[in-house]
Amino acid sequence: MLDGLKALKSALPAAAWTQDADIIAPHLVEWRDKYFGKTPLMLTPRSTAEVSEAVKVCAAHGLKIVPQGGNTGLVGGQTPQGEVLFSLKKMTTIRAVDAVNNAMTAEAGATLQSVHDAADKANRKFPLFLASQGSCTIGGNLSTNAGGNHVLKYGTTKDLVFGVEAVLASGEIYNGLTSLRKDNTGYDLSRLFLGAEGTLGIITAASLKLFPKASYTQRVITTVESPAKALDLLEHCRASGRLGMFEVMPQIGFNAVVSNIPDQRDPFETSYTWYVIIDWDFETEAEGSALAEKLLSSAFEKDLIRDAVIAQNETQAAQIMSLRENMSAGQKFLGGSIKFDITVPLNTIPAFFKKADAAMEAQIPGSRPVGFGHFGDGNIHYNIAQPVGMDKEEFLNQWQSVSEIVFDIVGEFGGSISAEHGIGIMKKTDLAKRADPVKMAMMRSIKQALDPDNIMNPRVMI
Ligand SMILES: Cc1cc2nc3c(=O)[nH]c(=O)nc-3n(C[C@H](O)[C@H](O)[C@H](O)COP(=O)(O)OP(=O)(O)OC[C@H]3O[C@@H](n4cnc5c(N)ncnc54)[C@H](O)[C@@H]3O)c2cc1C
Repeated sequence: MLDGLKALKSALPAAAWTQDADIIAPHLVEWRDKYFGKTPLMLTPRSTAEVSEAVKVCAAHGLKIVPQGGNTGLVGGQTPQGEVLFSLKKMTTIRAVDAVNNAMTAEAGATLQSVHDAADKANRKFPLFLASQGSCTIGGNLSTNAGGNHVLKYGTTKDLVFGVEAVLASGEIYNGLTSLRKDNTGYDLSRLFLGAEGTLGIITAASLKLFPKASYTQRVITTVESPAKALDLLEHCRASGRLGMFEVMPQIGFNAVVSNIPDQRDPFETSYTWYVIIDWDFETEAEGSALAEKLLSSAFEKDLIRDAVIAQNETQAAQIMSLRENMSAGQKFLGGSIKFDITVPLNTIPAFFKKADAAMEAQIPGSRPVGFGHFGDGNIHYNIAQPVGMDKEEFLNQWQSVSEIVFDIVGEFGGSISAEHGIGIMKKTDLAKRADPVKMAMMRSIKQALDPDNIMNPRVMI
């Protein structure tokens, strides 16, 4: 180990590594204070060549590697436990924006926000939207196959990528950067790295798909009585063909945000059981507000919604979105929270809520389900807040038994235990237990072929 660390330090310029505990500290704890790590050395390479050089040294000395982007991952995959930490934070260059091909090449450490800004300058859009976009990186987004708020219209990250450049466990550089929309020349190797959580190599850059910028996005917030009504409303809204986002929040989560988070405002005078935020994309503002009004008034007539507010400008649209973006922060005020990121087929969401809520009440009487999120994708962040007055630790100690119950129900409905956050450390045992054995065997074969000595993020996923 010591020889390897020494070799790494002499192979790289002094600006590309650090052992300063104060600089490394923020990289060893994740956003929710759930995982704490340690590392003997943090590398901050500034180019693909430096990443490659460093990986070759690690491979030669048997040093294990954990890649890290913005450290916003929610399943513990980016937190080292003694491995060498490769932070991509200095590889932030947008290498090219090609408006004709609707393509951009960005280095892995570029934040999602900087990719949005670069697309915007070229009058284009990169349609991946996460509340963490100021910090999370393209490399992290690809490695987790992040979802977010506009999957309904544009798909997950893997649908937004032409190809990647990655450093393999051998230190070799795979160059899959392209802007070709058609290329049937064998296996699509770039895809292997999408959702791989750093287990197959380090993504150093990616060619991303850009889209025309909708000239006007109409946002509304409306209220429904139940998940079943939300499902009917989704169908009603989809008929326009313009639907970009359909996010749902329950009363308990919504109230936690407006009561506790600064600058949040309830746009309604009355409290409702469920809130829905909807986006439609239009050519013009006039077209947007006219259709929103038409769709909402027919939704009233069909008894789908109770109340609605149409954003009149970008400030109001941002205020509405902020309610949704603060759902995680707001829940901290409800005490301990056991969190899930599941998907079920859309038509089963109401039944899922009914069954899971009843099971939670039976398991921990007084526990408070806070199921919110990307309803339009069938993706619910099904979180359980602790009963009022219960000891937080006592509640959180039940995480595994609660998981078994929730994942069994997800399985019954043909859903997935991880919709968009990935497997990491958190769901590794659950995946091994619940995934198709043939799928697990194929994943292990791919891992063995590309990383025979298991140096790439060795503790996560499989
Ligand atoms: C407030 C908040 C809101 C969020 N909202 C969403 C949401 O709506 N949808 C969603 O999907 N996620 C969401 N997330 C989770 C998180 O932001 C995403 O998973 C994001 O894609 C992680 O990017 P990152 O750069 O922070 O990656 P990190 O956290 O640094 O790493 C995540 C994983 O990717 C690996 N990795 C990172 N960079 C590379 C690389 N260059 N090469 C190889 N492997 C790499 C790491 O080893 C780790 O396994 C949210 C998180 C927060 C804190």
